[in-house]
Amino acid sequence: MKLSRRSLIGAGLTGAAASAFGISGIPIIPENKPKQVKNIIFCVVDGMAMQTLSMADQLHQMIYGKQSYWAWLMEQDFAVNGLEETRSLSSIVTDSSAASSTWGSGRRIWNGQVNVFPDGTKLRTLTSLMSEAGVKCGLVTTTTMTHATPAGFAVNSMRRDDEPGIAEKYIAAGVDILMGGGDRHFSAAKRKDKKDAYADYQRAGYTIAKSRDEVIGWKGKKLLGIFSDSHTPYSVDRNNSDELRKTVPTLAEMATIAIDNLKGSPNGFLLQIEGGKVDHGGHANDVAALLYDQLAFEEAVKVAVDFALKDGETLVIITADHATGGPSLNGAGDEYFDSTAGLHTVMGMKASYGVIQSDLGKTPTDKMVQDVIENRLGLQLKTEEAAAISGALANKYAFGLSEFQRSFSSTLGTILGNHSKITWTSGNHTSDHVMLTAVGPGNEFASGLTKNMHLFDIMLAAKGLKHSNPTMSFEDAKMHYDKMKESQKTDVVAAHASPEELNLWQ
Ligand SMILES: [Zn+2]
Repeated sequence: MKLSRRSLIGAGLTGAAASAFGISGIPIIPENKPKQVKNIIFCVVDGMAMQTLSMADQLHQMIYGKQSYWAWLMEQDFAVNGLEETRSLSSIVTDSSAASSTWGSGRRIWNGQVNVFPDGTKLRTLTSLMSEAGVKCGLVTTTTMTHATPAGFAVNSMRRDDEPGIAEKYIAAGVDILMGGGDRHFSAAKRKDKKDAYADYQRAGYTIAKSRDEVIGWKGKKLLGIFSDSHTPYSVDRNNSDELRKTVPTLAEMATIAIDNLKGSPNGFLLQIEGGKVDHGGHANDVAALLYDQLAFEEAVKVAVDFALKDGETLVIITADHATGGPSLNGAGDEYFDSTAGLHTVMGMKASYGVIQSDLGKTPTDKMVQDVIENRLGLQLKTEEAAAISGALANKYAFGLSEFQRSFSSTLGTILGNHSKITWTSGNHTSDHVMLTAVGPGNEFASGLTKNMHLFDIMLAAKGLKHSNPTMSFEDAKMHYDKMKESQKTDVVAAHASPEELNLWQ
């Protein structure tokens, strides 16, 4: 029997009155109570468009002769599939902090902020509510530990890009296991204020780990594992580097370590697993970065679902926060024969744009561009294609009349599209609905279209909890936001939390 989504959303919220009374006002029998579970694993792939999911599946079939894991999962009887809408308080197009905050507080949030309204009102967060109820909490990610998506489950911050500030907030937010990148936001030697954020975690009983060796097989209660200075490397770069494979765990390995150490909790656990760099591949219009990180995310999903199927008391939710970049494999050539060959070129790609740009330097000749692209991506560029790329490095954009094509990475992405047949709508987030799959007791909610902020109520209800945060209208939020901007004289809507990494390509 299908459970109504409304029955899973906490009482006192919009729609609860409508479900308690029929149209005539006569009380009707309440629908089934939500099924409760012991554990919740929330797998989020940041910035995954439906086309990314499709292309990753098609690429996986080319490489391994079988479906990608998520595609396989969607066909199983034990999985329920639907879509999630993704908007924020400030825009139809959300950023990652507002998106994750909808799951973290049950309210739509202004882009660039984390579980707060622009007047400074702080909302109770999912991990703080769960840990108060004795539920152990974990966050693992391929971005910085302090990035928008893990932060959105746990902390309050007026600015998503205040990552040093966010680094200090996870202990009080009740998070027991943390793994990701971002040493620069914890280390006294790297922080502007010279504060040693690691020392706070040590005093609170956390094991601090800095490399893959230190966490594989780790057993304990509290862990802060930080494996890179900023975000962890793209999977395409990790896969092609012996050193990176030794030092940085995969997302699937981090998921395994987190589950192994959270699963003994008497009141269960909540774990967020984020494949964060699919978003970065989308921003960069970098198809190898995008698709190999998507496949790495799906390996981590398999770890979560395998555990849930064995355990029987775990709800796994798999979704994205929004789509990024609008990538598509286009029909090309007679009978679209060239499209298959285009996707096939991704199998020969061995590096992300970051590696390619460091090979190129600032002023490469057109011949150098051809050599680097052939060496790293296995593609042979025409001279005029190489010239468009070297021109973009000198800020002369071949497609500069389009406001979405004025960057080095979009130029490179467009030129490479002649070969891969994969093109992009922009280097920004888009408004698309995203995929939603759920496995485990109570997973019926996932069918149809789910609003992003309802996942907060669904997760709390699955643990027998409910909480209703305050609300704010767009008009009030806009007024407070304008005031705040005026007083801060700064733009709080960070286009991205790691500007230095993105600026590298723009
Ligand atoms: Zn993004």
